Amino acid sequence: MEPQKGTRLFLSIGNLKGVGQKRFALYQKLGISSPYELLYYLPRSYRDFRNPTPVAQTEPDETAVVRVTICTKHRPVRVRGGMQIFRLEAVDEEDTPLDIRIFNNLYSYQALQVGCTYTMSGRIGGTLLQREIIAPQVLKEGEPAIQAVYPQIAGLTSAMLRTNIRASLAILAEEPFETLDPAILDAYQLMPLPEALYCVHLPENMEEAQRARHRLAFEEMLRLQLGLRLLKKRSARKSMYPMNKTTDLRPFHDSLPFAMTEAQLRSTEEICRDLCGAQPMNRLLQGDVGSGKTAVAAAACYFTVKNGYQCALMAPTEILATQHFRTLEGFLAPLGISVCLLTGSMKVKEKRQCHEAIADGTAQVIVGTHAIMQKAVSYHALGLVITDEQHRFGVAQRTALAEKGGVPHKLVMSATPIPRTLALMVYGDLDVSVLDVLPKGRMPVQTYAVTGKLRARAVHFLIQELEKGRQAYIVCPAIEEGESDLRAVTEYAEEMKKGLLSGWRVGVLHGQMAAQEKDEAMAAFHAHETDVLICTTVVEVGVDVPNATVMLIEDAERFGLSQLHQLRGRVGRGQHQSHCILVTEHATEESRQRLRLLSSTTDGFKVAEADLQLRGPGDFFGRMQHGLPPLKLAELTNAEMLHEVQEAAEAILYADPDLTAPEHHALYMDIVRLFARNGENGLN
Ligand code: ADP
Ligand code: MG
Repeated sequence: MEPQKGTRLFLSIGNLKGVGQKRFALYQKLGISSPYELLYYLPRSYRDFRNPTPVAQTEPDETAVVRVTICTKHRPVRVRGGMQIFRLEAVDEEDTPLDIRIFNNLYSYQALQVGCTYTMSGRIGGTLLQREIIAPQVLKEGEPAIQAVYPQIAGLTSAMLRTNIRASLAILAEEPFETLDPAILDAYQLMPLPEALYCVHLPENMEEAQRARHRLAFEEMLRLQLGLRLLKKRSARKSMYPMNKTTDLRPFHDSLPFAMTEAQLRSTEEICRDLCGAQPMNRLLQGDVGSGKTAVAAAACYFTVKNGYQCALMAPTEILATQHFRTLEGFLAPLGISVCLLTGSMKVKEKRQCHEAIADGTAQVIVGTHAIMQKAVSYHALGLVITDEQHRFGVAQRTALAEKGGVPHKLVMSATPIPRTLALMVYGDLDVSVLDVLPKGRMPVQTYAVTGKLRARAVHFLIQELEKGRQAYIVCPAIEEGESDLRAVTEYAEEMKKGLLSGWRVGVLHGQMAAQEKDEAMAAFHAHETDVLICTTVVEVGVDVPNATVMLIEDAERFGLSQLHQLRGRVGRGQHQSHCILVTEHATEESRQRLRLLSSTTDGFKVAEADLQLRGPGDFFGRMQHGLPPLKLAELTNAEMLHEVQEAAEAILYADPDLTAPEHHALYMDIVRLFARNGENGLN
């Protein structure tokens, strides 16, 4: 089949029968403007009418499919508010009675006739002796027994979607096209595209639906992978800042207060090799919390400065920027390197001085927030840009950085460990270094999950640590909807100060404080001028106070595993045994299970994998994925598929490095479309 796309599929969706202005606007909201795009609006699930359950075996509160014959139709009852309730009596094959209850829908009621038998699906209610089915969906004559259920959008029912999708499928049947090579379809046993789109919406059986989704998921991941690899290739211009292989790192290592771990040494070497390469570095440094990414970053800065170039280190918050500044200054200033801090909240005069030093090259390492990448800042010779806590910066920022001062080398650091294949998939435009060993002598943090009843005891435990001269974090309780986190934190802190923590010095840190106040609170905690820091999750990333040994998290069940792991990573950073106490008031069995998992391991990779399994890629990447094209189907936990996609992408780009061959045209256009939604990150 010639991979030539038909045109009608790509014309306005307004051409479809039944799509008037109103529905057109609804589709617009969903980002659907053509029948083609509608075909990619995929079912959330399927309603399978094929195997009805005997009424006697249905479970209350669950959705069930039953097949029953109508015996009696009662008159409608009108209740308060004008609502009409229709009740019908029916029996199934085994003569078990079932009441059918319909609300307000005269049409549904009229369609059911005494003596006729229907298959229907709905929520089961009633009692053990008298089951009822509430507002059931009835399978109509001639309809397929498996029906797609679409994500609910106000004004757009599954029935409307089904009609429009059928019309789009009819166009596709007349104008079939294919985006993948027959060789690839063959090698990975994938359904042809027209068949996959048909079967995903109108499957004969669930296995068919599954195979259709598999094909579409495969293609989606392949597009993502090819797109990222093309991005990587485009940014791979000639390095403008080649460095000298023989640069001596020994003075740096000698002045470090500790010896680097194997993993730190290996990553430093990988980075330095890149810095000396013919193309600019584009590398991700991944490491669990506390694995010592900052020291590796400092080594890269030292190497770069010794080669006569500047480095910029960008952090997502001022607190982190300030902390990195102190750390880097501590490592590098004794070696004669000038480190400067530039943040948005600095005074105009300070900023100007800073800008001048950056422009004339006297500032060699520049640390700050996004402010350091603004237009107003011009660099003398920016050779290396490091971004910390990468998941806060999307692909878009990754590429935008490249525009600053030619093409500097780029290093991004992430503390959300993800499995390697997955990293390649999500960060396909980057090379990856992994810090998989923690510094020696670190005692794993002890983690306990306790219920609210034991809270007072938990706080007493915390106080015992304070008495030993240690410090503690408390992540304050969940805030009610509409409540400001400011009030929540301050009220909670006041209560604690008067109550359990009276006599101790308590600091407060939350997202709505001005940058300067945050810095002061953090600095006070750092200097041990406060004993306890009561905070929201602003403290989640990167903060480093080795004397803190207790992290107490209120309402722990509201956080994802990875986030809890991050919070836990704020302690256990010094030589003292540290503890993480997860307090839960309303834990469900599922959340208890999650918290137990966290108590059983401190390995960030395991935590991330479990989190990914539990929450699915959508939530897991909720924050991190920001900047990646939206993924609808991608099975990011399916290792086998990930592997196949990598392999296929390699084969395709090997044969056709720029995807310019005519047989890749359709695929290329899909990739462009996918990345075009990404604004500045478009491929063109
Ligand atoms: P993260 O990877 O979470 O950013 P940091 O860079 O903040 O970790 O390092 C955590 C702590 O471990 C810091 O206090 C740092 O000084 C210390 N550290 C880093 N590397 C080593 C090492 N090789 N040996 C001992 N301590 C180290
Ligand atoms: Mg860090």
